[in-house]
Amino acid sequence: MTSNGPAAPIHHSVLVVGAGPAGLSAALALRAAGLDATVLERRGPGAVRPGSRAAYLHGSSLVALEKLSPGLGHEIAGEGVMWSTKRSFWAGKEIYSKTYPPLLREGLPPFTSLPQVRTEDLMVAACRERGVQLHWDAEVSSAEISADGVRLTDTSGRTWTADYVIAADGSRSPLRSAAGIPLEGPRSQNTFVIVDLDDDPAHPVPIERVFHYHHPGVDGRNVLIVPFAGGWRVDLNLLVDDVPDTFTSPEGLRRWIPKVLPAAYGDRVRWVSTYRFAQQVAAHFTDEHRRVLLTGEASHLFAPFGARGMNSSIPDAIRAVDAVREALSAKDAAAAGAAVDRFARERKEAAEYNRACASAALEHMLADSRAVRLRRRTAAALAAVGRKAGEWLDSAPYGPKLAARGAARTSY
Ligand SMILES: Cc1cc2nc3c(=O)[nH]c(=O)nc-3n(C[C@H](O)[C@H](O)[C@H](O)COP(=O)(O)OP(=O)(O)OC[C@H]3O[C@@H](n4cnc5c(N)ncnc54)[C@H](O)[C@@H]3O)c2cc1C
Repeated sequence: MTSNGPAAPIHHSVLVVGAGPAGLSAALALRAAGLDATVLERRGPGAVRPGSRAAYLHGSSLVALEKLSPGLGHEIAGEGVMWSTKRSFWAGKEIYSKTYPPLLREGLPPFTSLPQVRTEDLMVAACRERGVQLHWDAEVSSAEISADGVRLTDTSGRTWTADYVIAADGSRSPLRSAAGIPLEGPRSQNTFVIVDLDDDPAHPVPIERVFHYHHPGVDGRNVLIVPFAGGWRVDLNLLVDDVPDTFTSPEGLRRWIPKVLPAAYGDRVRWVSTYRFAQQVAAHFTDEHRRVLLTGEASHLFAPFGARGMNSSIPDAIRAVDAVREALSAKDAAAAGAAVDRFARERKEAAEYNRACASAALEHMLADSRAVRLRRRTAAALAAVGRKAGEWLDSAPYGPKLAARGAARTSY
């Protein structure tokens, strides 16, 4: 007998929605745990997402990815760049520099800088090698969540059912909406212009991270310059009354980029984007039935200073898989729910900590309060005579260090 109706859904123990860093990490963690991994992704295969996204991966992320898929951490580090010198300037005058030896951890560098699109390509290749089922062009359009599991429907009408869903579907997360979970927290009022520039071998620039307070070439705005493999990220901190278009138009870019890098870079723009950074965390990291686990930007949005977004999405995904594995083998529903609850509590605590760190960095950058302005000015005056003041000015735009609180547990 034949049927013309839609195919019956295939049931999965776990489904992952979203093939960004969180979803791909979850898929690799599932395979590393010996579980099947199926990912539903809205984009088509090979579709590149426009705009600047992560570049800076901490050593702890490289170590984690290496554990999930041996060779992956080394591959990413091998393609990325690392610098051993960082500098800060105040109104055009150097106030601090430090050159440090590259210390390896488990054979991996302390960080690497590689465009997120390339890191994702390497993660997708690792997923393929490890037997992850990647379904491209599979946009989840609705989710029914009950005590028995989750039923997803995609835009082509296919249905998918699962005991658990790892939601890695980004900042607008349809899964988070279906679970009725709000994001809570503010958004910065200032606009940041982020420009990715292709390297120009004819005009080499030293591979160093440089931060300028009050750069004289851009009328005293702050500028952060970070290398990545194949180019440079320039982050211009606009003032509240600035009109972003005057900085992001081709003429605008040709006007101000040559003031902060060699002139030729004004014509080497790969992406230009403007952001008002959100500092938001989901009210809960799971739904009332403990069947959907929120990870990555589905559960938190941070300003990128300190690079806590993608770097915390990886442990989110790993912990979500641990929890699902525990729940699947739990003796009863209460124990299964408790495993998911533990994940939700731990990762919410980590996200709140990360948001606090990113907020401290953002507050320092914007200097909206008189107290911060005074502290920065005093440190700049003292930096000529005392190294500590310069060191503080150099590090404050990135927020507190990882080791500040329970690093091994939940900081990222
Ligand atoms: C300018 C900028 C710089 C940054 N720099 C850094 C940095 O240096 N270091 C760092 O750690 N972080 C950085 N971040 C943050 C980082 O980019 C994010 O934290 C990271 O992308 C989050 O990954 P994710 O997988 O949660 O979400 P995403 O990367 O957004 O992936 C979500 C995926 O879900 C898919 N999807 C969405 N809806 C559906 C649906 N309905 N059905 C199926 N699939 C769906 C999307 O297509 C996408 O592939 C930066 C961000 C910005 C904007």
